[in-house]
Amino acid sequence: MTWRRKNMLQKKGKFYITTTIPYVNARPHAGHALEYAQADALARYYRLAGKDVFFLTGTDENSLKNYQAAKEGGISTKNLVDRNAEIFKDLAEKLNISFDDFIRTTEARHIETAKKIWLAAKDKIYKKKYRGLYCVGCEMFYKESELVDGLCPDHKIKPEIVEEENYFFKLSDYQCQLEKIIESDEMEIVPAVRKNEALSFIKLGLEDFSISRLAERGDGWGIEVPGDPGQRMYVWFDALTNYLSAEKYWPADVHCLGKGVLRFHAVYWPVMLLAAGLALPKKLFVHGYLTVGGQKMSKSLGNVVDPFDLIERYGADAVRYYLLREVSPFEDADITEEKFKEAYNANLANGLGNLVSRVMKMSEQYLDNPVDISSTKPMDDVNKPLENFEFNRAMFSMWSYMKDIDGMIQEEKPFELVKRDKKSAQKRVMYYVKELARIAKHLRPFMPDTSEKILEAIKANKMPESLFPRKE
Ligand SMILES: [Zn+2]
Repeated sequence: MTWRRKNMLQKKGKFYITTTIPYVNARPHAGHALEYAQADALARYYRLAGKDVFFLTGTDENSLKNYQAAKEGGISTKNLVDRNAEIFKDLAEKLNISFDDFIRTTEARHIETAKKIWLAAKDKIYKKKYRGLYCVGCEMFYKESELVDGLCPDHKIKPEIVEEENYFFKLSDYQCQLEKIIESDEMEIVPAVRKNEALSFIKLGLEDFSISRLAERGDGWGIEVPGDPGQRMYVWFDALTNYLSAEKYWPADVHCLGKGVLRFHAVYWPVMLLAAGLALPKKLFVHGYLTVGGQKMSKSLGNVVDPFDLIERYGADAVRYYLLREVSPFEDADITEEKFKEAYNANLANGLGNLVSRVMKMSEQYLDNPVDISSTKPMDDVNKPLENFEFNRAMFSMWSYMKDIDGMIQEEKPFELVKRDKKSAQKRVMYYVKELARIAKHLRPFMPDTSEKILEAIKANKMPESLFPRKE
């Protein structure tokens, strides 16, 4: 299929993409920036391909964690979520994330949706007394066998024994159906290792799960169960329904999520939708965690890398670069200031930054007019990996092209050629500029500002200011 034909086909479709909505009990860390950057690269790519894109992000505010964090901080829960939701939105904006809507789960429109789904799934919901091991950090019940030395495997804290009368969801009714849905990729899970993880969890046997808690745990914070003011919806039940707020675009084409919330998205979410008679999302893209020196980044461990600080000092595109190029999209990856600076200097100050100044300096000196860059050939080895969530491979390809051009310039020495044969030197420089434009166009979804600056410089035939000044 040619590029042109593909573009025409893509023009017809919509593309609905979401991030998960983070808890707002603490400030965002670099892991949140990772998911924002990944989803944004996809949203921008499909927008450029002519799709009708809807990109949704937001915040998860009905959690008991928020209630507890507010209590500790001596403020009201509402104050805490208002303040922190703004910080997440601010991060998305500072990172140049092109979201179309930002939903907060304390908004009336969300509460309405959550109640609607509850009522639509009513046939699969029943009330019973329950006693279980509950981790507040995870907001979920664990089986004894899932604990490590009696502790939550994620938070390394002892779960509380919680006994109460709750609403349950008949997950057990969906064992076969859900297995088929995932096995057949009707709802595709990428990468395969996460698909297999979901399948093995399902094969262990699905048990009905609690979808509400007593209102008094949390002083009434949370969304009321329709018709039962003594109960609040289990935060995950309510939070997942945020994806339905852009109803016009449902089903989602891609849900972006971290591996830690796979079970909610691969098991609970599809059955909730089935019970409510709604279509399933098409794809789940599951990314790994950012680690610091091999350890999970978390507030409680005190090793959080502050994304605001990195953006402030290096710029949004440099942070996007690191998250998309230097971080594996599927596995855990390390981020430290040292690694960040090293990659910045090697590939942005030197690699891309150098190439732009080299090529544009020659263009400005040798060419009388800007080069026509209206048509450039597509790079399949950038686009294909991007469509498969392999952001790092896509960017690797672009940096290989840069290396190639750099090598060509060194070999052909247009700065010497120009003295003997100006026409030939001009031809070569025009070629480099065209190639640079091609790279800049493909860079758009990943580093939109940088791409824009390069294309502007080419159109004006003027060397731009240093894109990425070297950091000592
Ligand atoms: Zn936990």
